Amino acid sequence: MKITDIKATTVTVPLEAPLRHANGCHWGRFVRTIVEVETDEGIVGLGEMGGGGESAEAVFRAMKSYLVGHDPARLEEMRFLIANPTASLYNNRTQVLAALEFACFDILGQKWGVPVCDILGGRLNDRVPFASYLFFRYPHPKDGSGESRTAEQLVTLAKDLKAKYGFTSHKLKGGVFAPEYELECYRAIAEELKGDRFRFDPNGAFSTETAIWFGQQIEDIRNDYLEDPVFGLHGMRRVREKVRMPLATNTVVVNFEQLAANILNTAVDVILLDTTFWGGIRPCVKAAGICETFQLGVAVHSSGELGIQLASMLHFGAVIPNLSFAADAHYHHVIDDIIVGGKLKYENGSIAVPTAPGLGVKLDHDKLGEYSELYKRLGGYPYDQDPLRPGWTPTVPNNRWADPNDARQPEIDY
Ligand SMILES: [Mg+2]
Repeated sequence: MKITDIKATTVTVPLEAPLRHANGCHWGRFVRTIVEVETDEGIVGLGEMGGGGESAEAVFRAMKSYLVGHDPARLEEMRFLIANPTASLYNNRTQVLAALEFACFDILGQKWGVPVCDILGGRLNDRVPFASYLFFRYPHPKDGSGESRTAEQLVTLAKDLKAKYGFTSHKLKGGVFAPEYELECYRAIAEELKGDRFRFDPNGAFSTETAIWFGQQIEDIRNDYLEDPVFGLHGMRRVREKVRMPLATNTVVVNFEQLAANILNTAVDVILLDTTFWGGIRPCVKAAGICETFQLGVAVHSSGELGIQLASMLHFGAVIPNLSFAADAHYHHVIDDIIVGGKLKYENGSIAVPTAPGLGVKLDHDKLGEYSELYKRLGGYPYDQDPLRPGWTPTVPNNRWADPNDARQPEIDY
């Protein structure tokens, strides 16, 4: 079988409300690039990558000169073909490789009549558990709904998500307001949802000393882990010496070199593996194997996803024996999907691993068209900017926190 064409379409899909984070905000929508890889046997594989626009579409078009005529089964060769580690000094295509790898797996699964997890070693889990992903959210620019700024609003959001989807693990994305305020919010959620598990992630915005203080204030809570309280392996190592809970990262161990460094001189206990950041599902499985050997925890990271990316996370989560924690997903914040049948369903806090051949999700071309048009109308958004704080630059560590009393509603086009 040979690859004959690669198509890329940028879409934007609305969120329930703008999601705030340490660097800025998701401005009420996600932008994703959907990839279709065609073959001479008529099988089409699907991939997905974060971000998009003309430049992303052009990158995928440029990959045709590398991959047309290539056998989609030769995944290891494809890695060197488009993401050779030394050539990557000039052309870093890790995320592009990931989207193409998903598509090739999708092709192979369809060709062989098996779900992708069967190619990866076979499923150990039929369902992957997820955590509720709680954000500080701006009110929706249209109708003012969905705000979570106060502890009370966050508790309500957490309870609603638990009632609706069955989550028993809750992640609060911090790094927006001063740590004292976010501590109050985190403790309020833990207090109101006793018996559940919790995790906090300020995206590396704290100083090491603040991270140690924050960690010590939450030692009585049933924390899955404290995620990226500081940026950098050495800061994480110092926090780990003084805080009695596992530390997790999706920012300072994102490749095999960093994983090796973390094993030789451990700074992080739990590695959050992202099928996009690591260049595909297969590198995540490899990294999970290394973590298994060295007894590090593993979980599935979310860099924002629609159904194709989510399928990659589900097949990955299905095959690893050391999935120690509930996975993360932004998925419950998006209002729709571009796959046939609409959004995959949460049940009892988990999502079923698809059983159909390949990734097990199909593209809804009407939805693809609809959200491609929406992207053309709205364009991208600056992920690393806050719509209500023009000129603001978050430093690392940060001390330029947002004001929790600021109840304004952002003006964003829809
Ligand atoms: Mg994180």
